[in-house]
Amino acid sequence: MEQKQYDLVIVGAGLSGLSAAVEAGSHHLKTLVLEKGRTIGGNGNYVEGALGIDSYLQKQHGIKIDKLAVLKSELDYSHYEANAAHLKHYFDHSGETIDWLHRLGVEFAGVGAQGDSWPTIHAFTGGGHAAVQVLEQKARDLGVEFLTSIAAQRILSTDSQVQGLVAKNETTGLEQTFLTKHVLLATGGYADNPQLMKQLVNSSRLMTVSDGKSTGDGLKLAWQAGGQHASLGAPQFGGGFIYDPMKPAFMYMGSELGAAATQEAILWVNEQGERFINEDVNDNMCNAGNAILTQSKVYSIFDQAAVDHLEKVGLYKKVGNSPVSPDKLAKLPEEIKADLASHQRFLTSAATIDELAAKLHLAKLPQTIQNYNQLVAAGIDTDYGKDAKYLTSVTDGPFYAVELGVGIAAAIGGIRVDNCNRVLNDYGYPIGGLYVIGNDAAGMMVGDTYAVTLPGSTAGYASFSGRNAVQHIVEE
Ligand SMILES: Cc1cc2nc3c(=O)[nH]c(=O)nc-3n(C[C@H](O)[C@H](O)[C@H](O)COP(=O)(O)OP(=O)(O)OC[C@H]3O[C@@H](n4cnc5c(N)ncnc54)[C@H](O)[C@@H]3O)c2cc1C
Repeated sequence: MEQKQYDLVIVGAGLSGLSAAVEAGSHHLKTLVLEKGRTIGGNGNYVEGALGIDSYLQKQHGIKIDKLAVLKSELDYSHYEANAAHLKHYFDHSGETIDWLHRLGVEFAGVGAQGDSWPTIHAFTGGGHAAVQVLEQKARDLGVEFLTSIAAQRILSTDSQVQGLVAKNETTGLEQTFLTKHVLLATGGYADNPQLMKQLVNSSRLMTVSDGKSTGDGLKLAWQAGGQHASLGAPQFGGGFIYDPMKPAFMYMGSELGAAATQEAILWVNEQGERFINEDVNDNMCNAGNAILTQSKVYSIFDQAAVDHLEKVGLYKKVGNSPVSPDKLAKLPEEIKADLASHQRFLTSAATIDELAAKLHLAKLPQTIQNYNQLVAAGIDTDYGKDAKYLTSVTDGPFYAVELGVGIAAAIGGIRVDNCNRVLNDYGYPIGGLYVIGNDAAGMMVGDTYAVTLPGSTAGYASFSGRNAVQHIVEE
């Protein structure tokens, strides 16, 4: 079979791969994008927004961020495990990356903070899917070729220089070789790889909302080619999540019961029925995930008065800390009714607290609720210091318990790259022509906890790193 020669082969057509494809096309590089899924966009389709500092939109809104202060705070947050030089390079070009996306036709609905974060998230109009469509069309217009249902298998190299790539057609099982001196790995991290995830977080309570295709292929390909094994980095936790191991987690992403149980800072208890945390920890989704995993089981407990309040009066706290949060949970009573009628295991209801405690073997629940209601009456959380505005009593039956797992969107890290996103070998030297971008490289930004303080940071990094790698190839 004829083997085609490309300037560049990009593995993965998600947010980072598509950003790289557009950049490569605009520099007239003969570029091929291989995508193992049938469709384009990867997890980029679900993204709410991307980080930028000093973007056109922030200037319009008068938002000024001191880049050095952000860098310092992020290094502190990561316990200096983040790579300062790479992070700085990213921050310095993050605003212009948003401007570039905007010039291509990607629209942004707004920019702001999530909770007490830096105001860095630029929310895509129409979500990530709309942005992905713009990028794909632009890349095609620039002559970039796409193949779907084909998964990269191994990198061909001689003398530490990439020579090509072997990929397997997912339908026929047949392998095909593509000749190129440059391969960009953009496979989206490893949230869907159980072995790697077990090394990162050993828990059966993770509810993965990724697209199922983030199986760590980029890591495996880079390691096979001699790339250095860096620390596995961080899970991108989305805070608490309805615990239902029987159904794909994405089915609960729009659940109002899930929002009530995880986002509203109402009472959480553990497997004994004891309170264990200030529930407004969900200001930082990753901290909330960490806190939940300190216990063997976690239940969110609330009463009918809370349901009525959330349905008719309004939220206690913005959902997802997001500027695009709804005002009320109008469908909450309906959802509760339907879940109880279909005997969903994650939801338990009882007329009294004693009955709820007995049903779930939460021996200490009655005492916990008595204590908690006293804190509510006093208006101060002397146990864990939750903000008084989230202290709501649990007094009016029926009572509800929702079992919680931890949502996870992505897992990043595992490969060390330099400032041009080249893969480094064990000695810290680049492997010729091998680049890693997006989630596959984003471990460079974090320590063991994802940078929720900088919302939009993986999506912003996906676009930045894709362009960064291509610009290096062009300069070479
Ligand atoms: C529900 C959800 C919401 C999110 N929201 C945000 C947000 O608001 N802000 C934010 O910053 N981040 C968010 N993220 C994180 C998101 O993963 C990244 O921001 C972004 O998608 C990373 O881009 P990527 O190109 O690295 O990965 P992806 O966009 O996932 O793309 C990877 C692509 O590689 C393909 N692939 C994998 N292996 C192979 C192979 N062997 N051969 C060929 N193709 C392969 C995959 O099929 C996929 O299409 C969210 C994630 C999820 C799941």
